[in-house]
Amino acid sequence: MLRATQVTCRTDTGRQRRGNEDSAFAHAPLFVVADGMGGAQAGEVASQMAVETFRQALPDGTSAEERLAQRIREANRRIHDRSRAERERAGMGTTLTAAYLDDGTLAIAHVGDSRAYLMRDGALKRLTRDHSLVGELVQRGKLTEEEAAEHPQRSIITRALGPEPDVEVDTWSYPVRAGDVILLCSDGLTSMVSEDEVAEILAGGKRLEDAAEGLIGAANAAGGRDNITVVLFRVEDDAGLGDATLEHAVIGAPAVDGDPDGTGAPPPLEPPPQPLEPPPADPYTSAPRRVGTAPGARRRRFAKPMAALISVIVVLCLVGTGGYLASRQLYFVGTDAQGVVTIYRGLPYDLPFGIHLYETYYVSGFPASLIPPDRRGALLDNHLRSQNDAIGVVRDLELGKITR
Ligand code: CA
Repeated sequence: MLRATQVTCRTDTGRQRRGNEDSAFAHAPLFVVADGMGGAQAGEVASQMAVETFRQALPDGTSAEERLAQRIREANRRIHDRSRAERERAGMGTTLTAAYLDDGTLAIAHVGDSRAYLMRDGALKRLTRDHSLVGELVQRGKLTEEEAAEHPQRSIITRALGPEPDVEVDTWSYPVRAGDVILLCSDGLTSMVSEDEVAEILAGGKRLEDAAEGLIGAANAAGGRDNITVVLFRVEDDAGLGDATLEHAVIGAPAVDGDPDGTGAPPPLEPPPQPLEPPPADPYTSAPRRVGTAPGARRRRFAKPMAALISVIVVLCLVGTGGYLASRQLYFVGTDAQGVVTIYRGLPYDLPFGIHLYETYYVSGFPASLIPPDRRGALLDNHLRSQNDAIGVVRDLELGKITR
């Protein structure tokens, strides 16, 4: 029978972020990496919630793929509900890549741009397809892998846990054999280190623990622009292997290696994370903007004459007519505090006492400064739009359809 050995789980904040929004779980035969988004007090909460969903046994079900997918959908619902219920968690989300080793088969379930790789006989094979803007363009043949790696919008993901009440989960199964090494990682590794270099490091390290350190070291040496998380294990035939080869590790915020209680049971839940400072305002190269993200967001101010008075009247009308619900269906496109094109849901008004009639729906990663000035006004005019219209405008920008 095949099983996982040398289970290794490491995370690192990297060189440019102040907090770590990644979480991971590695308890053979189940392995999970999640990369949160939404800024301090949101991204790390989303990724931890996702990982914690996997600390329970997998639900009964038909296949390992379906059982993993069920847990992911459950995590999505929890994160979505909490992001709607708590203002400071609004817009939070996370990627999630989970792997389950079932004797000779590795089941993978996946949402977002964290990845799974298989290293066999010195060759590295990617097992997941990124749910990212550039990933989709690569799959459609519009962009090469090399162009994608350099693309300014490479960190924009098109699918995540949290932003919507339901999430589509991709699943696959792969046959594995003794000697295979499996790597799960967040994009803080793959955005900094080429796949060739990852393969070289994995091939060079006798112990996976050293390989994990090597991968994190390489990402930091390349600039460490994002949080870096790696989960590694080797597939071995269990004939002749003692229990001592089984290891467990969890990253909520701090990494916990080994099997602390010696029972082989999943470790207890982590204490709540310490508050983190918001990440620094950073350029696009170092700050991925993602679906539903408002990093360190100050909302856009709408300083118009009489705005406060108009707003009060609007609110009174809304309350009077039940229009609040209608406003939930309204969207507008503007810019956030960093000048990034953003879709907002609601009405473009601020009220006195810090009350807003809108919330961040999607932060595009597209700087408004790249839009030609003569088109900027018409696109970023805060006019009310349907959801599809707002998404269409921003998607056209991201795909480079709106230039001159
Ligand atoms: Ca990341």
